[in-house]
Amino acid sequence: MKRLLLATRNGHKTQEFRAMLGADFAIEDLSAYPGNAEIVEDGASFAQNARLKSIAVSRQIPGLVLADDSGLEVDSLGGAPGIFSARFAGAGASDAQNRQKLLEQLAKCEGAWRHPARFRCVLSIASAGEEVASFAGAIEGEIVRAERGQSGFGYDPLFRPEGLEQTFAELSAAEKNRISHRAIAVAQLRTFLAQSLLG
Ligand code: IMP
Repeated sequence: MKRLLLATRNGHKTQEFRAMLGADFAIEDLSAYPGNAEIVEDGASFAQNARLKSIAVSRQIPGLVLADDSGLEVDSLGGAPGIFSARFAGAGASDAQNRQKLLEQLAKCEGAWRHPARFRCVLSIASAGEEVASFAGAIEGEIVRAERGQSGFGYDPLFRPEGLEQTFAELSAAEKNRISHRAIAVAQLRTFLAQSLLG
């Protein structure tokens, strides 16, 4: 089976990629490389940060490297937290702290509770320090008033995708992985890998 290295230390992301691609690829992440330096994500967009990660890791480790940069955009906060989703409540913040900060910010907004939002994901695939391709996915929805559900990670308990009653955290992993921003980008990646010599 072909090997694919994920440029992440986020075990939740790795689980989702294994569920989506694990039948075709042996998926590892950076937990197998504890000595590797942290990558500074100082790009101005999801695409730039995904590229930074895939290129940096593929310079250090041979083979195909896949990076995911993703996050939540909330319209009433001007698109925040966006590329700062992982550290919205400060460097090293937990998912719970980030969700709490989001609810605090939204509580300050005037008028009825209505907060359209979307998750975005950009995947970048690289080899030997060169980006080979990148793919984007997004899913529209809204932020609910209070956390609901136990599955998933990050902002999942606060995000209800358009057309569904449940939040991402109330869906099963399989249901989330059918419709998510990451699933949309992964579908394009899968087609690309199947058509190229890389896959
Ligand atoms: P990254 O590791 O810099 O790409 O940060 C991604 C951050 O965006 C995560 O820490 C989460 O806070 C958020 N995020 C991205 N994708 C998801 C998702 O599928 N569900 C919930 N939160 C997500």
